[in-house]
Amino acid sequence: MASNKRVMNLREDLTCAICCDLFRDPVMLGCMHHFCKRCISTYWKNIRGPVPCPQCRQEFPSRQFQTNYLVAGLVDKVRASSSDGYVKNVEKQLKETLESQRSKREDYISMIRKDKEKVDALKKVGAELQERIRADFYALHSFLQEEEASLLEQLRREQEEWEQVLQRHLEVLKGAVREVERAVGALQQAADTMDTSVLVELPDLNSRSSLQLGEGQDFDCNVFSSKYVAPIQYATWRKMFQVLKPGPAPVTFDEDTAHPSLILSRDRTSVVELQEMQPYPRLPKRFVQCVNVLGAQGFASGRHYWEVAVGTKPKWDLGVALEAVDRQARVKLCPENGYWTLRLRCGNQYSAGTQPWTPLRLVAHPRRVGVFLDFEERRVSFYDADDMTLLTSFCDGPRGKALPFVSTCVTDPGQRTQPMRFVHLPVEFL
Ligand SMILES: [Zn+2]
Ligand SMILES: [Zn+2]
Repeated sequence: MASNKRVMNLREDLTCAICCDLFRDPVMLGCMHHFCKRCISTYWKNIRGPVPCPQCRQEFPSRQFQTNYLVAGLVDKVRASSSDGYVKNVEKQLKETLESQRSKREDYISMIRKDKEKVDALKKVGAELQERIRADFYALHSFLQEEEASLLEQLRREQEEWEQVLQRHLEVLKGAVREVERAVGALQQAADTMDTSVLVELPDLNSRSSLQLGEGQDFDCNVFSSKYVAPIQYATWRKMFQVLKPGPAPVTFDEDTAHPSLILSRDRTSVVELQEMQPYPRLPKRFVQCVNVLGAQGFASGRHYWEVAVGTKPKWDLGVALEAVDRQARVKLCPENGYWTLRLRCGNQYSAGTQPWTPLRLVAHPRRVGVFLDFEERRVSFYDADDMTLLTSFCDGPRGKALPFVSTCVTDPGQRTQPMRFVHLPVEFL
């Protein structure tokens, strides 16, 4: 708008006062006023003697003017900017700019909407996570509070029982003292008077001397306290470990699913690849194409966690597989085919089991991998079990029964085979 106004002012400045149109061949008089060459010539045509300026009335003795090329150039520019083609072009450019600005505005608005949706989603997820974290810690706090209360109650009761025992013991002893004093008095009196009737009663006095003192006699404060002066935190922590939800599940391998060139340990917690296939019963649930094996424990609901020790083995796949996976075919490991896996190749190339593979940049090389299967959130997550760093996570986890999955992969020529093992806490630990 401002530039439009400037054009209008310029147009006025370049307008001839005689024909009221833009200058044609503008000329300048001695008074510096401009007119069209033809307009001023016509104006002066019938005048005799000195000629005046039509604008300021200054008179000039001769009909002289100067052609002003600068003004002529400006007039040409203003005229061109008023032409139809020029205006249409400007209109077109304006329209296009307007359109592009509008679409830019739409883009920004939609980005803002998306950002707001993300913020809302983040707040919602954050609130849900807070609830979950609170619930998890509440369970631990409750366990600890209950353990503390129960131990204090046990101490209180035992102390009270011993107090009662000792009180009874005290009473018995006091009674005995009184009785002995009575006997001493009687004997004293008999001695003084030589009353022989007392002597008749003597055996009776002696028989009363065996007192029923009860267990108070045996109370030992050291024995009592050593029961409670114990590594209480460790003892409680061990108990707490067993109620963790989920705690590490002691899963084992299902021999009937193992590829014929895999061999399991006797306790079925460890699997290793053999150089040659061994004779095997043909079972529909056995993997025959890939060196895979499943866990014996299947899960269909809730939350589960187990750990697989991989050591320094340079090549493996592990995770979760649907019970329904095809054991007879060679399939790619991805959620679409019923596998949620973490993969290692060449000793340092970790990937998440998607198609195509999603490479992961891990700082450390996990020796033990934790697998977390959460049916409530439909999530499968992998952790470095040493420090519980999250390695990767799938949020489209299994529906239906799923089992722990391990593939030793075929060992490269010249490399030694290494076992993979489900981590169980030693029995003596629990
Ligand atoms: Zn004119
Ligand atoms: Zn003038």
